[in-house]
Amino acid sequence: MRLIGLLGGMSWESSAEYYRLANELVRERVGGLASARLLLHSVDFAEIERFQTEDRWDAAGALLASAAAGLEAGGAELLVLCTNTMHKVAPQVEAAVSIPLLHIGDVTAEAVRAAEIARVGLLATAYTMEQDFLRERLTGHGLTVIVPNGDDRAVVHRVIYDELCLGVVTEESRQAYRQIIGRLVASGAEGVILGCTEIELLVDQSDATVPVFPTTRLHVEAAVRAALE
Ligand code: GLU
Repeated sequence: MRLIGLLGGMSWESSAEYYRLANELVRERVGGLASARLLLHSVDFAEIERFQTEDRWDAAGALLASAAAGLEAGGAELLVLCTNTMHKVAPQVEAAVSIPLLHIGDVTAEAVRAAEIARVGLLATAYTMEQDFLRERLTGHGLTVIVPNGDDRAVVHRVIYDELCLGVVTEESRQAYRQIIGRLVASGAEGVILGCTEIELLVDQSDATVPVFPTTRLHVEAAVRAALE
């Protein structure tokens, strides 16, 4: 089994899911007492969030590149960046290592395509919904990506940073997300990507009338498949 390097802490609420799911999947696939071989570098999310709001993506990229190099030096054979948003600096991280980065956009797009869906809604941070770095990765796989309107994007973003990244899960926000998913479906979305690694702490398939694509679970499944190849 290859050693998976998890670059997480963005936020740790979702990294804990990566850890739990990876171990569950290895146990399911291998059986007995088998568990995932993992190395985790968990950053201080306050520092990353400051870089985001100050538009200092290069500094955030440098921090993550250095952490990734540390994971490789520690023996990681595969790199998993446990956040959609910070894939904005994926090229900087990839340049710092010689091990492969399992890009969350590729993994997600493959799952959407496997479901034979072409037009997909994206729920994520404002950075991910409004900038090109993830959307282009998805459209590069032949998908059409639609995002919520401005007011809805603000709600989705606020709930991620003010609630989910702090471990706060409320029924009120679940209802708000349900309605936003409904509006995406009304605009033609045949599926919805939960494109922030905390969103699946709040909503799941039962909150939508179309297939949902939870990026944390999909990312972990791909990582475990690669580790067991
Ligand atoms: N975990 C989130 C994501 O998948 C947001 C936190 C971050 O800015 O990294 O985009």
